[in-house]
Amino acid sequence: MDADLDRLIRLQQTDTFIENARRRIADDPLMIEGLDSRLASATAGVEQAKARVAENQAGRRAVEKDLAMIQARLSKFKGQLMEVKTNKEYTAMLKEIEVAQHEVGVLEEKILERMLEADGLAAGLKEAEAKLASDKGVIAAERKQIGEETERLRHGLDEAVARRNTLAAETSPAVLGTYDMVRAKRGTAVVEVKAGYCSACHVRLRPQAANELRRNEIIFQCESCQRILYFPAQPAPAPEPPTSLP
Ligand SMILES: [Zn+2]
Repeated sequence: MDADLDRLIRLQQTDTFIENARRRIADDPLMIEGLDSRLASATAGVEQAKARVAENQAGRRAVEKDLAMIQARLSKFKGQLMEVKTNKEYTAMLKEIEVAQHEVGVLEEKILERMLEADGLAAGLKEAEAKLASDKGVIAAERKQIGEETERLRHGLDEAVARRNTLAAETSPAVLGTYDMVRAKRGTAVVEVKAGYCSACHVRLRPQAANELRRNEIIFQCESCQRILYFPAQPAPAPEPPTSLP
């Protein structure tokens, strides 16, 4: 293989790594922000569930207060019933008792509704708390992983930049100039030939060009997209299966 082509292939791999690593490192704060917002949302879920439970309890206490008032009135009426002097007063008092008793029924029904609702809300709160606990674990693990990945890439990046500089210094200036120019224009400067096609723009190589390039001994640019082409190394043949011992 042409020494400059070999360097360009490695240069491209290194530049691709550097680009991806920089992008991923730049994304780090955004990824952490995403985790924070997931945690905040799970925490808010618990707060909301707690607020609904508290609201239910407050509502039930208010109804119980009303019920106590009506029951006090009812027992007062029942006491007064013994002291009425006329039939008319007696009928009126019975009517008052009937109204109060109906109200007691309505309020008791409301308390029952609140109690049933409380069961559902307690289950909802338990569920939200379980989700928060599980999210906390998952998010902490992801945060750790993101941090470690960023750290690893930072180290790798320093090494890659040094390697890039060495490769660039070793490459013939004219070849490096072509590489830089194509890369500036196309993003990727060096690509494989796949089944006779440029793997970037998918234009077929002329058979003669393919023949010339096959051993990767020349710097050859795709006639369509100008990217520098090379034939990838053939994968090594699979080893023979081991033969059993006699
Ligand atoms: Zn091409």
